[in-house]
Amino acid sequence: MKKIILLGASGSIGTSTIEVLRKHKNKFRLIGFSVYSKTSFIEPILQEFKYVKFVGVKSLKEIKPLISKYPKVTFLEDISKVASYKCDIVVNAIVGFAGLKPTISAIKANNNIALANKETLVVAGQLIKKLAKHYNVSITPIDSEHSAIFQCLEKENKPNKIILTASGGPFFRKSLQDLEKVTLDDALKHPTWQMGPKITIDSATMFNKAFEIIEAYYLFDVNVDQISVLIHPQSIVHSLVAFNDGSLKAHLAISDMKIPIAYALSYPLRLNDVTKQLQLDEVSNLEFYKPDLKRFKPLQLAYDVLEKKNIYPCVLNAANEEAVKLFLDKKIKFLDIIDIVEKTLKATKPISGTLTFKKIIEADKWARGYVRRMFDL
Ligand code: MG
Repeated sequence: MKKIILLGASGSIGTSTIEVLRKHKNKFRLIGFSVYSKTSFIEPILQEFKYVKFVGVKSLKEIKPLISKYPKVTFLEDISKVASYKCDIVVNAIVGFAGLKPTISAIKANNNIALANKETLVVAGQLIKKLAKHYNVSITPIDSEHSAIFQCLEKENKPNKIILTASGGPFFRKSLQDLEKVTLDDALKHPTWQMGPKITIDSATMFNKAFEIIEAYYLFDVNVDQISVLIHPQSIVHSLVAFNDGSLKAHLAISDMKIPIAYALSYPLRLNDVTKQLQLDEVSNLEFYKPDLKRFKPLQLAYDVLEKKNIYPCVLNAANEEAVKLFLDKKIKFLDIIDIVEKTLKATKPISGTLTFKKIIEADKWARGYVRRMFDL
């Protein structure tokens, strides 16, 4: 029986994780979870999963009746504290930079990580890898592309190339000119995946894939030039690994996050009946295109920040998070997101000396302030 703590239980990955746990109660025991501000998710989970001892939430004031109704459960405002209770796997499904601190505290508590929060590796990949090694903690990807790669890799043979597939989002056939006129509603319609608003916008701009390049770099110990992206609109091939003998291995499945979640929870074993089996004869065609890095600028930015390292990946993430917020609030246009990130990166001064988590947090703050000052916020 594996003890599980789920951070971000109310989001899209969180909900899918709950579904996997529900189906496999003989294998997993949920002992803690967090929801941040969506407090209506708390009680149904407590009713269903009787072993939950810890619940993380944004504000205790909002859940006073729950606190008295469940005296045996410890409610906490500190999500990092929730991540630090001893368990077998912490599933980190928090969105954005907010996922970094809970990952650090989970590692320091010797808890293995199933990572859906790619920002943890984007902003502090070097430091997180070092920390995980020091505490002998494993980080298993939940991101579908990285799970696919993880499933294709071989212990005995180094990969020659890692190929991340990208659906291209809703706009991949549009010209830059068309993109000027894209609305929030257009951007929120992803063709193949059902996801939260932040990652859906990131998929439309291709920043999601940019982050995934950085995530892959830190997860799989390859050089920057060994990671490439292939546009694959059907989202059936979830990524590929090339080997020196000319072989190419791919992972194929329907677009259902329960597959990578279940795999990260039960690795190296696979669970039964996680989702429908892909029927290849029902798939009419699989297309692959090389992305134009000038058209999909965020991809080029990912390679640039990986060359520079320092605080640049962190700034890339922070500027994008703020820009996406502005776009979701209808304060800026779609293409402004990319423009804002580029400008913020240009204004960034690298820090001297050793990179630390403290410096990462400062850089994140600086970049957010820089973006907000552009709009007098
Ligand atoms: Mg992904």
